[in-house]
Amino acid sequence: MKRAYNFNAGPSALPLAVLERAQKQLLNFQQTGMSVMELSHRSKEYDAVHERAEMLLRKLMNIPDTHDVLFLQGGASLQFSMVPMNLLKEGEVGNYVLTDSWSDKAMKEAKKVGATHVAASSKEEKYTYIPTNIELSERPAYLHITSNNTIAGTQWHEFPNVSVDLIADMSSDILSRHIDVSRFALIYAGAQKNLGPSGVTVVIIRKDLLAKGDDRLPTMLNYRTYSESRSLYNTPPTFAIYMLSLVLEWVEEQGGVQVIEKKNAEKAALLYRCIDESEGFYKGHAKKESRSHMNVTFTLPNEELTKKFLAEAKEKGLIGLAGHRSVGGCRASIYNAVDMEACEALVQFMETFRKNIF
Ligand code: PMP
Repeated sequence: MKRAYNFNAGPSALPLAVLERAQKQLLNFQQTGMSVMELSHRSKEYDAVHERAEMLLRKLMNIPDTHDVLFLQGGASLQFSMVPMNLLKEGEVGNYVLTDSWSDKAMKEAKKVGATHVAASSKEEKYTYIPTNIELSERPAYLHITSNNTIAGTQWHEFPNVSVDLIADMSSDILSRHIDVSRFALIYAGAQKNLGPSGVTVVIIRKDLLAKGDDRLPTMLNYRTYSESRSLYNTPPTFAIYMLSLVLEWVEEQGGVQVIEKKNAEKAALLYRCIDESEGFYKGHAKKESRSHMNVTFTLPNEELTKKFLAEAKEKGLIGLAGHRSVGGCRASIYNAVDMEACEALVQFMETFRKNIF
């Protein structure tokens, strides 16, 4: 069986080695006579999986003891609400940098909870760049950024230096590059891009912030509940956490985040070079200094050619290249599990397609 070259934006490609390991363990996980999905979440076998996932994430991201690691459900979208519900107090202002519709949505949810302020935005230029002119409001509770913008194809290459708590939605670039976790008050990420399948959301929170959550919050929406129970207050998404642990093992086997980061930069450089050397046939959506190493967004000269490009790519097994409906054009998502071979196959296809048109 030939596997597709998978450029989906999320859920997205998983490492083949991870899928094979899961397949091998599926019917009889560690001699329990059942799959990991069928284990009690209170069993010692599942507990070891749960603990290993946290331990590996701590190790790979170098997460300091000042921060807790939590496993939640509800996707990154629930974090749009939980962040302000837990951390935005009366009289304070949630500050947001708007860099595509995900950060827009995050702010929209915060508005339902309290006061918000746009600290910077590139909306007027179709989110083609990461704005650096940050202007905080009075009494800011935090500054929220989206470290990688899945739709626009932009990425923060240097994080803002601010004196307030920095919160980042890292859904589409967590574990793709080295970051200094201690600079962040809170990081959240849905798993379905670099961490595993959908179903689990990782939250990394500085411990002193746990005290901010009001006791009147619904139990399941208070970060403290997850911290106090090691994310085992109720049934966690056990299978997704198991898959996360396998993905983390795989990252470790690759040599860790630094090695992955280098590979990601090479993959992105290959694609951007193909775009830049196409004599204007392919145009990158993002400004060069803000280009993402995870989502490469580009357009073709017209709609008709875009359709033809996508159809022919699909025939060649290159899947998931349509741009987000709000931006149009094309997008190649090249997360950690998309290897150089897939990127080379795409570049070869792009070059042949262009030459056949001219
Ligand atoms: N933030 C970003 C940056 C995303 O890319 C996505 C999903 N593509 C989300 C938030 C929403 O994530 P979820 O579907 O897990 O709620």
